[in-house]
Amino acid sequence: MQRSPRILVVGSANADVILHVPRNPYNGESLLVRSRTEGLGGKGSNRAVALSRLGAKMEFSCKLGRDVQSDVLLSAYGHEKISSDLIFFDEQTGTGTAYVLVDGNGNNTILSYMGANDTFNRRDLDKLVTEMPRFGFLSLELEISLSAVEELLQASRKHGVHAIVDAGPARELPLDLFRDVLVLSPNEVEAAQLTGISITGMRDARLACIKLYESGCRNVVLKLGAQGALLYDGCDFVHFEACRAGEAVDTTAAGDCFMAALTFALSRGTDMHNSIRYANAAAAISVTRRGAIDALPFGEEVELLYS
Ligand code: ADP
Repeated sequence: MQRSPRILVVGSANADVILHVPRNPYNGESLLVRSRTEGLGGKGSNRAVALSRLGAKMEFSCKLGRDVQSDVLLSAYGHEKISSDLIFFDEQTGTGTAYVLVDGNGNNTILSYMGANDTFNRRDLDKLVTEMPRFGFLSLELEISLSAVEELLQASRKHGVHAIVDAGPARELPLDLFRDVLVLSPNEVEAAQLTGISITGMRDARLACIKLYESGCRNVVLKLGAQGALLYDGCDFVHFEACRAGEAVDTTAAGDCFMAALTFALSRGTDMHNSIRYANAAAAISVTRRGAIDALPFGEEVELLYS
């Protein structure tokens, strides 16, 4: 039987508040903010928007509060042609928010409030587990309740749905959580956190991949920033150089864009090597643009660079 190309994205949704400051405040200091912008954010939202723009058959599940922020997010999803059928609400907790301080040198400091992202409950999970067999692929990250991640991975195993997991943000958890996932994909910081191996070169990167592979996952795809990505499938290592789509100005959401494009390519039946090339191409475009959502490319743009 042919696997459904339909992708279920489950992940975080944040209202980002970006504050431009001359420098980070000292303890106890009250500092004037130069400018303030708000927008859609969260690793789940980023992947969902990227997948929708690439043209994937996808549905997005996240958890929001009942507040003004959730209205803004829902309207943004509508604009991006993302259905809200699998979006849940928590009556007590506010919508997740990331407060991003950007200093005069362009460096980011982020305060992240998980809010409703951490409130997936029995009813939400029962709904998602019931819906799971409709999908061929599950796209997950770790910015929601870990109990939800665990249960969704269990359900994907049971129904033969390919799980593709972004191992970010860095969290302490048992590696066997990732048993049977098709792709486990950390960046260098997350790989170091999960394995205890700090990655300063290709040798460490390979050692970390071997350790991550012991989780029982089927492929490790280590994201290496401007160095591209490293695949380990239990037999061979293959290094895929990053693409160049212009000058890199902002890497915000590059990892999310990479994950979305990798999942999309795999869902179309593309093999793993070419799917990673496609993901490198999509992410390379995203780093040439500022912001998170604004940087995410459309399918035609990626095809041009990839082909
Ligand atoms: P994260 O955003 O999770 O920290 P990385 O920084 O490793 O992840 O970047 C994710 C992907 O984005 C890389 O694997 C690569 O494909 C692409 N990328 C990142 N930085 C660059 C760059 N300077 N030039 C081209 N591609 C890049």
